[in-house]
Amino acid sequence: MSAGADASGPVRTVAVEAAGERYEVHIGAGLLQRLGELYGRPAGLALVVCDENVAPLYLERVTQSLTAAGMRPSPVVLPPGEQTKSGASLTLLYERLYELGASRDDTVVALGGGVIGDLAGYAAATFQRGVRLVQAPTTILAMVDAAVGGKVAVDFRQGKNYLGTFYQPALVVEDVLTLATLPEREVRSGWAEVIKHGLLDGGATLALTEDNVARGAALEPRLLEADVRVKAAIVCRDPRERTGARAALNLGHTIGHAIEVAGGYARYSHGEAAALGLRAALWLSERLQGLGAADATRGQDLLSAAGLPERLTGVAAGNVAVLVERDKKAVDGTPRFVLLAALGEPVTGVVVPPALQREVIAWLIDR
Ligand code: ADP
Ligand code: ZN
Repeated sequence: MSAGADASGPVRTVAVEAAGERYEVHIGAGLLQRLGELYGRPAGLALVVCDENVAPLYLERVTQSLTAAGMRPSPVVLPPGEQTKSGASLTLLYERLYELGASRDDTVVALGGGVIGDLAGYAAATFQRGVRLVQAPTTILAMVDAAVGGKVAVDFRQGKNYLGTFYQPALVVEDVLTLATLPEREVRSGWAEVIKHGLLDGGATLALTEDNVARGAALEPRLLEADVRVKAAIVCRDPRERTGARAALNLGHTIGHAIEVAGGYARYSHGEAAALGLRAALWLSERLQGLGAADATRGQDLLSAAGLPERLTGVAAGNVAVLVERDKKAVDGTPRFVLLAALGEPVTGVVVPPALQREVIAWLIDR
């Protein structure tokens, strides 16, 4: 953590090194109005991309700060929701960049949740083979996960993130004040990923998560910093998802994704589905990896304390089972699970016998 304080409070900084590039993630309260200053770019164009929910709340402070820093901001406001992560939106962003005469020294600022980060990030990665990208995430999910690590994508036909690449941002600015307006369901969903990082870390990050959840407080900057460090450490070891280290981030997501899809992306949000997936992973870890019963219970209790779903309802077990088998990260047609040998000790590439897959889904329903 580095220092630095002013009227808006201290700034916590995490340096990320991935694929030969280095960038900083700044975390703190009131950082959006300091975005231009933190970026430190003296000139140039900044296409600021956000959605209709975020625009009235946070767009102006970002454009003002960029203007004050000597940049020329130009906003683009898109409809909210997953449908916006499309080729059509991408074309719209390319058109705007083209009309504005953007070149490789110019910047795209992604102001919003994972949808905007992925979309604007993909546009930045591909316009003229890459313009500068600043990620300014405004959801917990995007702050702890999507905005760090360089994955950018749009959806194509039925495939989520079907077209994508790795593109590291020049800077990430995480203003915790934005979380105050986040809808309750988004907050809860975000906590699922925070808990995932806690389980992967097992140490101080997990303890900090339990403490924060127990007090029912908003996500604290020091926990956010710890979470970004967990993600950054994994990303540094495997920037382009080649060595397998990054697979650990899939904890809870094999069954989680299946639940999300089986529920038509409506019954359960990504985070809620991931939470059920984490419950399943803890259960399987106890049986297959020797995770201690007390540690498994500790994980289950934390998910409950965060208000995440206790059991799977409104989705057919059979559908979930079929979708698990068809997992897109399967190897040789067999889904691979991430389990825990202990808290903080993920084991990747685990093959779970089909009978046990069905058993854990049944347990999620009946527990
Ligand atoms: P994610 O993939 O990060 O969950 P989305 O980009 O789909 O997120 O955003 C989730 C929803 O929350 C969208 O409707 C978006 O407009 C809205 N949203 C994002 N950030 C904020 C915020 N800070 N305050 C209020 N609403 C927000
Ligand atoms: Zn996730």
